[in-house]
Amino acid sequence: MKVIVVGSSHGGFETVRGILAEKPDTEIQWYEKGDFISFLSCGMQLYLEGVVKDVNSVRYATAKGMRAKGVNVFVHQEVTSIDPDAHTVTVHNLDDDTTRKEPYDKLVLSAGAVPASIPVPGGDLANVYAMRGRDWAIKLKEKTVDPDVQNVTVIGAGYIGIEAAEVFSKAGKHVTLIDLLPRPLALYLDQEFTDILSDTLKDHNIYLATGQSVKEFIGQDGKVSAVKTDQAEYPSDLVIETAGIKANTGWLKDTLELNNKGLVKVNDHLETSQPDIYAVGDSTKVPYAPTGKELQIALATNARRQGRIAAKNVLGHDMKMPAVSGSSALSVFDYHFASTGIKEGTSDANGVKSQSVFVTDTTQPPFVPDEAGNQTVFFKLTFDPDSHLILGAQIMSKRDVTANINAISLAIQGKMTLDDLAYADFFFQPGFDRPWNIMNVAAQQALQDLD
Ligand code: FAD
Repeated sequence: MKVIVVGSSHGGFETVRGILAEKPDTEIQWYEKGDFISFLSCGMQLYLEGVVKDVNSVRYATAKGMRAKGVNVFVHQEVTSIDPDAHTVTVHNLDDDTTRKEPYDKLVLSAGAVPASIPVPGGDLANVYAMRGRDWAIKLKEKTVDPDVQNVTVIGAGYIGIEAAEVFSKAGKHVTLIDLLPRPLALYLDQEFTDILSDTLKDHNIYLATGQSVKEFIGQDGKVSAVKTDQAEYPSDLVIETAGIKANTGWLKDTLELNNKGLVKVNDHLETSQPDIYAVGDSTKVPYAPTGKELQIALATNARRQGRIAAKNVLGHDMKMPAVSGSSALSVFDYHFASTGIKEGTSDANGVKSQSVFVTDTTQPPFVPDEAGNQTVFFKLTFDPDSHLILGAQIMSKRDVTANINAISLAIQGKMTLDDLAYADFFFQPGFDRPWNIMNVAAQQALQDLD
């Protein structure tokens, strides 16, 4: 059997890895249109802050290493079209500008996404950057030490925008963070958390221009010099656009069923609308555990799970993509937070009735001094007030307690209720936590509120 895999990031890598793990003698052709395979944007902040020194190490696989495992790796070669009836793809070799057709038995697409550009005048000015992939990582790194760059404007205060703002704040720049929504990280955290984080961002020389809409990038001598919003104008030597992504699927529109955002429609086995063609990663939706509906959640974790499941199905297994909850975590200066599932702020958009309980505690018993790591922890649990089903949670502390959110993710997936969580068995040791884990405390409080 010959399998062609398109795209070398999380989804593509995991597909190839999954096939190799089970049937290493499968003929695999793996295509990447860039000149580097398996760069992990997730590691970009660590590289930009100098924690990881070599940009080329921010990856899981090398072409050489994968070729040694028998994979036919094609770098700088773009798959430009598919003929599903003939079971062939057209490949454009970007080095010598030739094209050829390649037959496949099974085809897995992990074409991913590219950063969305804000449709306003001035987007083509120099120093308007994005933050995704190795090329942008290298360009951004140069700007962290460029003395001509003093004012950095980041557009989009989601995860990636927060990472960019933190990088440039730590590099000593004055950062403006613009977002259309009234709070940073508004889709990930409710206000109890973002109020604290907003203060932290301000303390680190990051100006929050939230609730503002970008109207224009103003230029001088071909370079960006300011960003104009509906409310103000911000001097800008560098602009980083992190306001969403666009599926990399324009080339598929005449071949596969796509939705109105260009996402490839897949069934629960990750099969597309054409036989023997699978799609995974950021250019697809995933089943969302809290609602049972499909949702676009662009995370490496999802791409990895889908890649592994696509590999299983390609090899003849019968495996469904499990529902996920969009669990994610991030550090913002001294704080570490994580969230999963529904928040108060995303409840309406997801069409669910929800109620939440917010609790504050210390990570350890009161007799443990702060110097021993005892920190305040904030936790919010969201649930269905009628069925008591757990729908989501958020946690934040200066101590890293983010792993609790993985337990909530499992509770959502397992359709657990407040009643299950209130007395669930979690360990206690004063060096780590309290006799009642904060998840128990919140669920008990929620049951009392409902009484
Ligand atoms: P992509 O990563 O978009 O890769 C697609 C690849 O396919 C690209 O290399 C592209 O060049 C190639 N390609 C596309 N079309 C073709 C074609 N026709 N022919 C050949 N090659 C093609 N997620 C997390 O879970 N945790 C994190 O901490 C995290 N941090 C992130 C930080 C940043 C700065 C960014 C930008 C993203 C982060 N993500 C994180 C999200 C994660 O990176 C994405 O969800 C993941 O990369 C999606 O993988 P993918 O395989 O769908 O596609």
